[in-house]
Amino acid sequence: MRLILLGPPGGGKGTQAKRLQDDYQLAHLSTGDMLRAAVASGSEIGKKAKAVMDAGQLVSDEIVIGIISERIGQPDARKGFILDGFPRTVAQAEALDVMLAKQSIAVDAAIEVRVPDSMILERITGRFTCSKCGAGYHDKFQRPKVDGKCDACGSTEFTRRADDNAETVRSRLDAYHAQTAPILPFYEKKGVLKVVDGTLPIAEVTKRLKEIVEGASVG
Ligand code: ADP
Ligand code: ADP
Ligand code: ZN
Repeated sequence: MRLILLGPPGGGKGTQAKRLQDDYQLAHLSTGDMLRAAVASGSEIGKKAKAVMDAGQLVSDEIVIGIISERIGQPDARKGFILDGFPRTVAQAEALDVMLAKQSIAVDAAIEVRVPDSMILERITGRFTCSKCGAGYHDKFQRPKVDGKCDACGSTEFTRRADDNAETVRSRLDAYHAQTAPILPFYEKKGVLKVVDGTLPIAEVTKRLKEIVEGASVG
């Protein structure tokens, strides 16, 4: 199974990818996570990416295609994957097609997790993650069961992303509409585009995604 989760920043792609990966033994491939790891490591790519990410703009196709093409050929990803945050431009979608054609495979479903712009500021400014295991939370919508303690690993340390502030949200949404939304018709033409209502509660979105995944694996 090869899935793409599309949708605006803060729309719930990462949350859902984490919930689906274990059930279907899929590698969760997040270019945002890969870029943040590059920034943290201080690599050349990380240095180039940091300022662009902090400004809420898109990192160059060249860099992002480079990191994903390396990752997608690894053994776990060859068994199946969920792409989260890639592709984000038509050029990236085209490059992905070339990568997959080399492995004689194609995408089973590209699913748009649809959330209106008006809900994104609150989603993004309330987001935080466990520093130890990466579990995702939200100040209002997904609080740990015990305040200040990660449900998954018990850690009491959490982090917030440098780019998750009100100032970047507008530029990130502009980038989404101008550069990423044009890839929706690209997948529609291939007959693999599906839409899920991302304004529903987290568990309900997961349920709808599973229905699509199970339909795609039968059909
Ligand atoms: P993305 O990966 O698309 O940027 P995330 O999965 O990180 O988005 O979600 C952004 C924030 O919104 C997180 O804090 C997450 O806990 C919360 N969230 C995700 N899905 C929902 C939902 N369906 N309803 C309410 N909050 C959600
Ligand atoms: P979000 O879903 O909240 O936008 P991501 O973790 O997917 O967050 O991405 C964070 C930032 O990393 C983006 O704003 C962008 O600068 C960069 N980035 C991630 N994926 C890509 C990509 N496929 N192409 C270009 N830039 C990317
Ligand atoms: Zn944790």
